[in-house]
Amino acid sequence: MLSLTQAQTLLQRGEISSRELVSACLERIAALDGAIHAFLYLDADGALKQADEADRKRKTVAGEHMPLLGVPIAIKDVLTVEGMPCTCGSKILEGYIPPFTATVVKKLQDAGAILLGKTNTDEFAMGSSTENSAYGPTRNPWDLSRAPGGSSGGSAAAVAAGFVPAALGTDTGGSVRQPASFCGVTGLKPTYGRASRYGLVAYGSSLDVVGVFAHSAADAAVVFSVYNGRDPLDATTQDVPDANIVLETEASASLEGIRIGVPKEYFIAGVQSEVEEAVRAAIQKMAELGADVREVSLPHTEYALPVYYLIATAEASANLARFDGVRYGPRVSGETMWDVFYKTRGEKFGDEVRRRIMLGTYALSAGYYDAFYGQAQKVRTLIRRDFEQVFEQVDVVACPVAPTTAFPLGAHRNDPLAMYLEDIFTLPANLAGVPGLAFPVGFDAAGLPIGMQLMGRHFDEATLFRLAHRYQQATEWHLAKPTIDN
Ligand code: GLN
Repeated sequence: MLSLTQAQTLLQRGEISSRELVSACLERIAALDGAIHAFLYLDADGALKQADEADRKRKTVAGEHMPLLGVPIAIKDVLTVEGMPCTCGSKILEGYIPPFTATVVKKLQDAGAILLGKTNTDEFAMGSSTENSAYGPTRNPWDLSRAPGGSSGGSAAAVAAGFVPAALGTDTGGSVRQPASFCGVTGLKPTYGRASRYGLVAYGSSLDVVGVFAHSAADAAVVFSVYNGRDPLDATTQDVPDANIVLETEASASLEGIRIGVPKEYFIAGVQSEVEEAVRAAIQKMAELGADVREVSLPHTEYALPVYYLIATAEASANLARFDGVRYGPRVSGETMWDVFYKTRGEKFGDEVRRRIMLGTYALSAGYYDAFYGQAQKVRTLIRRDFEQVFEQVDVVACPVAPTTAFPLGAHRNDPLAMYLEDIFTLPANLAGVPGLAFPVGFDAAGLPIGMQLMGRHFDEATLFRLAHRYQQATEWHLAKPTIDN
């Protein structure tokens, strides 16, 4: 099971070929993905062809400038890849093959990455466990009876299980960070507007951002440096210089001068004690490495959950209106045009998606708009101001990713609210648009990974990476691998 940087080095030195690397990934997937179900679509033949092409390119001048040349990567099934099915984990898009490729994926391809296939997700990225996928859940590689988190659970599990060294996910309310935490891998949610959403099937357009999973901050930084940047096809990408994160390879960089804020609102009743202890120990370690730690307050944190579920569902109800059985995917026939719409949407959307469309439509309806959606927007501004005020005092905020470690599959089956509470510590970053990085900092008594989250200023992913990288140079949690008994 190679990390991305290890794979890059061996490929560059000619010690392995991309064909060998891709074949090894495919063998592992064939042996173990029956049990894990990380992939919804695997393009084994295409991947081997791309690998041969990469091996040829390596001998050319062009190949020298391709940072991901020959490296296998998996893509969450809410991002389009021309010619590959894109289901978004939904029956309403079964059989849909998009005619275009998402900008972030195109950038990975241009950098030489090999696309292995599409990974499982909660339907339209709505969920925290992948159990809302219409194609069955993904299982956590650390314990097959547990959820991998969600909604990008397929990508997180694919990295944790050693199927691919890195994978793309998306994060609207925590869908990269929470599964990274549950699966013991490193996951970045960049600043809103840092990476293109062109070709990302929209859930909550003011919250969605493309993130990445890998085995370390250093690996995630390589992929992020490739896919971020302004895109003329997405007007919400910002006109800032592209991020090109270069991390020190020597374990010498001090964290001196970096101020870490510990928000008291994130260490509350309901947080598993082992999670709190491991996160506090990691913060202590960062202090030993030179960082300056102090307590801070994000007073509007308790409103993040209701605000998120009003805004995300409102945006989702508008975004998902396009799935009507006419333009994409299967159609259920009916007498009239409206019949076709109702039947297709009624039969092909799953329960959670229908629940959210109804909630969102209600929040946007005449007479209720100001009380719900309008009010939520105002409180969103207060949450954003909390972060602005804290980032005048400190450079990053450190806290748990989720209140618990991976829960058993089915634990929240009949309780959507309990599922929503899983995101309590990840939603604020999306509402404020700030970047967040999750990485492993320990294990609970059941042997399940514990994740910690760093949040930073807008467009300052670099400081998050610097801290996590230094921490990973000094510790070994990120190197632990699950034994998968299938
Ligand atoms: N779990 C949250 C939700 O269901 C976040 C999902 C996400 O980030 N895509 O909305």
